[in-house]
Amino acid sequence: MRYKSANDHYKERFGRKMYKASVSLNVTCPNRDGSKGTGGCIFCSEGGSGEFSPDASVPVSEQIDMAVSKVFSKAGPDAGYIAYFQSFTNTYCDTGYLRKAIEEAIAHPKILAVSIGTRPDCLPENMVTMLGEMAKDIPVYIEMGLQTSSDRTALLINRCYETQEFADAVSRLKNAGINVIAHVIFGLPGETVEDMMDTVRYVVDSRCDGIKFTCLYVLRNTVLEKMYLNKEFETLTMKEYFDIVEQALEIIPDDMTVHRLTGDGPKRLLIAPEWTKNKRSAVNYINRRFGNG
Ligand code: SF4
Repeated sequence: MRYKSANDHYKERFGRKMYKASVSLNVTCPNRDGSKGTGGCIFCSEGGSGEFSPDASVPVSEQIDMAVSKVFSKAGPDAGYIAYFQSFTNTYCDTGYLRKAIEEAIAHPKILAVSIGTRPDCLPENMVTMLGEMAKDIPVYIEMGLQTSSDRTALLINRCYETQEFADAVSRLKNAGINVIAHVIFGLPGETVEDMMDTVRYVVDSRCDGIKFTCLYVLRNTVLEKMYLNKEFETLTMKEYFDIVEQALEIIPDDMTVHRLTGDGPKRLLIAPEWTKNKRSAVNYINRRFGNG
């Protein structure tokens, strides 16, 4: 099934293969520090959705050096890198702090773009203006966790912002020349396949440039773990999940980039579903079923 993958997009935009170099900042999330909520989204672990991220106390340039050296032998000398500010909410800080971190990242010779993970309710006008200024010098991607367009499910997962804020943020970011990627989770408790397709349609209608799909996985020491152990919901099988992905791909327009068909949780924390522990078999399955040729 043909769709525009991240590799297709990067080839078009950068003329080469691109890799992500994770960078951690000293930030938290309004959903954890009490300003919006406490405890975080029910699926989110202590690491703030960035389990594979480096230590925030290490200077940004050194974090990038470490990330590049990890993949360099596989990536080769011509690959480009995107500094990926992944854990927690990276615009939940002073604009000066983030600007300095971005400047340090883009001064690194391997970095050709930056990608910043955040929430739509943490993008005040001065932050969007600063990011828009940066986007004049280097491609800037903003990755926002939507997960679902259902405000009912959003309440259940303790997302702590209303869906309408997402569309509003997308439009302000796009006006500032920023590429916007939505994160969506399939398999949230209580959601039907039609709810999930509504979320995909919502992302398409909000005119995001890209989308990332993830299967809901249960991590240790989360509220979701308690719900799972209480048998309040079941996780998706690999076939069920990719059947949903296939339906979603039918809705996605040709010019929207599908950055990821599924994610993989940290093995040491992962409780379920079992199949997401075996990355190689999931990748083989994806290649067989969705081989992008
Ligand atoms: S907004 Fe992101 S970092 Fe914060 S609790 Fe939710 S998933 Fe975790």
